Amino acid sequence: MSIKVDVSTFPLFINGEWVPAVSGETFDVHNPATGDVVAKVAKGNKYDVEKAVNAASAAFEQAEWRDMNPKDRSKLLYAIAHKIIANSKELIYLEAISSGGTVRRLSSSDVMQMADLFQTLGKFVLEYPFSETLPVPPFPGPAHNFVWREPIGVCAAITPWNMPMLIATWKIAPALAMGNTIVIKPASYTPLSTLKLAEIISEVVPKGVINVVTGSGNEVGEPLATHPKVDKIAFTGSTEVGRHIMSLASHTVKNTTLELGGKSPNILLEDADLNIALPGSLFGVFLHSGQLCESGTRLFVPDSLYEMVIEKLAELAGTLKLGNPLDPETDMGPVISSQQKETILSYIESGKKEGARLVCGGKEAVVEGCENGHFIEPTIFADVTNDMKIAREEIFGPVLSIIRYGELDDAIKMANDTIYGLAAGVWTKDVNKAYEVVRQLRAGVVWINDWHLLRNDAPFGGYKQSGIGREMGKYSLDAYTQLKHVHTSMVPDLHKRRWNQLLFSNLHET
Ligand code: NAP
Ligand code: MG
Repeated sequence: MSIKVDVSTFPLFINGEWVPAVSGETFDVHNPATGDVVAKVAKGNKYDVEKAVNAASAAFEQAEWRDMNPKDRSKLLYAIAHKIIANSKELIYLEAISSGGTVRRLSSSDVMQMADLFQTLGKFVLEYPFSETLPVPPFPGPAHNFVWREPIGVCAAITPWNMPMLIATWKIAPALAMGNTIVIKPASYTPLSTLKLAEIISEVVPKGVINVVTGSGNEVGEPLATHPKVDKIAFTGSTEVGRHIMSLASHTVKNTTLELGGKSPNILLEDADLNIALPGSLFGVFLHSGQLCESGTRLFVPDSLYEMVIEKLAELAGTLKLGNPLDPETDMGPVISSQQKETILSYIESGKKEGARLVCGGKEAVVEGCENGHFIEPTIFADVTNDMKIAREEIFGPVLSIIRYGELDDAIKMANDTIYGLAAGVWTKDVNKAYEVVRQLRAGVVWINDWHLLRNDAPFGGYKQSGIGREMGKYSLDAYTQLKHVHTSMVPDLHKRRWNQLLFSNLHET
């Protein structure tokens, strides 16, 4: 099946309007399943960033947005959730034809999670402690002390290509819930669904509250990360670019949250229920063709199960159907680009060279009707050691590394021997044993007998070089607020204000 779509043009979305880039230039967006150009998108630069940041800054100055009461803000968040569902077909389509995500995943998971996050935060803002009163201190004198939680200001979000609209939502929803304004720079491979999402949201928020500037990391991302009027930057992407953003943001000391890469360990214990552990482990690594930051890419298997598990996993991987993401029957779509395909293939070569045993896959795949797409067979390596390149670096493709272990302690040591700490997993029938392992794993989320399941009321983020800060739930509301301590003195009598004597040795009424 070949997809034919009319190529549309997407301008920038600034101050509630579609506007062309100042340069007048555009860039092409391709469908990774077919290679076709599916859209032309405005190529923004620092002049467009200036316009968008000014619009966001002016919108933040409006008290009716910044200081909206929580009940009204909650209604607004629910209204956005309804709009997402009402526009879900278009959002799903735009994302499938640019990211290669399957319509099956996008329609039954991503779009639902997006709407649910707006609803979840819509509930949380009603209970959020916007103002707390501290106990009145007797010393050095009675006072009223409040802690107020206030929005940070203009937020910039820089997002990756793997789950573009969901990851943008993880930033937009808490930013708006707390009264901030936002400028988003989506990944150049996948700007379409984010642009549509901003248009939908703009129907219920004041103009300038949400803006999207498309264009390259250098020309749009960097000016956002350095702009003096941007108060916070929220980035999801590779650890390498995350380090760079952090250093750029340091010049203006921006509040910074980073969601970065992973090389997540998945430990199979001897007593695991293999009926769920084996499909669950492949779900953990091959969903979205391995292009998920929390993918379980290193599988630790005990000696006693080793060859049997390898054989069964290879058999299971062979049942996965590669195809056009628009076909609901498709299990695995393409990887994002020919460049990414080459990178993955070079990792596969390095695995072979370093002595890992290729059990299945290992090649690019040709899919009927999608001959120009970028497909890779689900690939499993056995006899991987934790020092091999394929066990250390994030591949971001459908490649599983199986590592053999004798003692559980050794598996845990190897699991933690990585610069990353985003996710981890353990499969066992013994929950007590599972908790013992979980306590030792250094990762922001640990699944017991599962993978990929995130909740909108639970935090998501990384230990170590997988990031700083947490998204989702009430934790993300904290990440989009700053604290103000307000002190009101209740001591009107000058001579009782003894703390002034820290400066004046001789205090008298004037
Ligand atoms: P990436 O290359 O780091 O790009 C991410 C975003 O940063 C894109 O919008 C990109 O723009 C922009 N960018 C690139 N260079 C920049 C620069 N010099 N200054 C400012 N912005 C710049 O990551 P990716 O290749 O899109 O996505 C894959 C990575 O994301 C993986 O490492 C994955 O683990 C990580 N990820 C992490 C999470 C998480 O929650 N922890 C979730 C998903 C993905 P262009 O597209 O224009 O280059
Ligand atoms: Mg990149």
